[in-house]
Amino acid sequence: MTKRGKNPQGHCSFCGRTEEEVMILVSGMEAQICEACTEKAQDIIDLELENAGVKREDKKQKSEPQPGAGKSERYGGPLKLIPPREIKSFLDQYIIGQDDAKKVLSVAVYNHYKRLQELEKNKGKKQKDDYVEIEKSNILLAGQTGTGKTLLAKTIAKVLNVPFAIVDATVFTEAGYVGEDVESILARLLQMCDQDVEATERGIVYIDEIDKIARKQDNPSITRDVSGEGVQQGLLKMLEGSEVMVPPQGGRKHPEQKMVKVNTENILFICGGAFDGIEKLIARRVNTQVIGFNKKSTNRIDRDNLLQYITHADVKAYGLIPELLGRLPICTYLDPLDMDALRRILTEPRNAITRQYQKLFAMEGVELIVEPSALDFVAEMALEYKLGARGLRSLCEAIFTDAMFDLPMIDGGSEKKQLVIDREYAAEKLEGSRIGRLKAA
Ligand code: ADP
Repeated sequence: MTKRGKNPQGHCSFCGRTEEEVMILVSGMEAQICEACTEKAQDIIDLELENAGVKREDKKQKSEPQPGAGKSERYGGPLKLIPPREIKSFLDQYIIGQDDAKKVLSVAVYNHYKRLQELEKNKGKKQKDDYVEIEKSNILLAGQTGTGKTLLAKTIAKVLNVPFAIVDATVFTEAGYVGEDVESILARLLQMCDQDVEATERGIVYIDEIDKIARKQDNPSITRDVSGEGVQQGLLKMLEGSEVMVPPQGGRKHPEQKMVKVNTENILFICGGAFDGIEKLIARRVNTQVIGFNKKSTNRIDRDNLLQYITHADVKAYGLIPELLGRLPICTYLDPLDMDALRRILTEPRNAITRQYQKLFAMEGVELIVEPSALDFVAEMALEYKLGARGLRSLCEAIFTDAMFDLPMIDGGSEKKQLVIDREYAAEKLEGSRIGRLKAA
């Protein structure tokens, strides 16, 4: 069995994707299998064994890992360093637009892991006098909800094959108060890689809704701001890099609990937020900023997308404390999604929604054709309902559910079956659906 072995066909014998379309292709005597089909095959084997009542020792061990003792099968290998251009082209396959954010992230992530490699190389060696230490660079992403912030962070972790965890900043409260301690962030990461501390220590954490823990300007001094500034203070040490005692099961710490020590120095933190209303602060700053070396300030200001001029100063004015911002040295933005972007999201990404439906229909022997007029309609509706890209799926569900309901009933036969979705069909199905009734209400 060879990995990416030279094979005459160069495609997965199960799903048919070519060598270019998959990450790994394992070759056997007369067939090849890609990483996605391997996973699916494993799921089938697990299910069959479970149905047959067969208990697998290794499975049992997996579900009950010893804190800090595990070695992740998936993330245990050496770190592969991928150049920024390659990272970006991987991101391009899944994320539409957002070129600035993709570029900034690709470079930041590449540098982060280069720094990590350098540290590993010099481990235990005496440092020379001219040794330049590269500092860790966590990232701040600003962009409206549903524009792809989480998707970007998730896809980066996928390309690098490092453990990845998403946490919501709003669940945290200052230590000692009701809510989760900030350390539970790392518990999620540990869980992702079977409690393998070494793999955890080079993972990526995406902290969503960081804007929601901004200092409240009108916070009366008699009450404590336990979920705002208090949490920001709690995050400081973790983002900077320190040894943190983590409760492996997450939640709150309690005295009898066994703790795992995790060093966060090489964990990359990506913080994202919508920062609703920050445009006003940006506008105020760009209006007063007459001179400067900023290339953009000499050009005409694009008032419809002020977020592209965001700087740390604006985020500070918004209510994130300067100490925290100091630990998020890279700041970038995501563009709002317009009609064209929403339409492209429907069809272009590798796992685009319409492609997924086409596959589901194909599995039932039906060719699904989505006409451009229907795509326009769905994108228009997503804009109108202000649902962003997240709404595209619910709209498609509403449109395709009836056909999917009837699909398995369609009797077999040799002739090819087709389902053509045009604007009229889509509008009619949406009208009768729950989401369609929302509009009428
Ligand atoms: P955010 O974190 O900015 O609120 P997400 O990354 O969770 O938004 O996006 C929600 C969903 O919308 C994603 O899972 C993806 O399907 C889709 N999506 C959003 N933005 C894009 C984009 N630029 N390209 C492709 N899909 C996108």
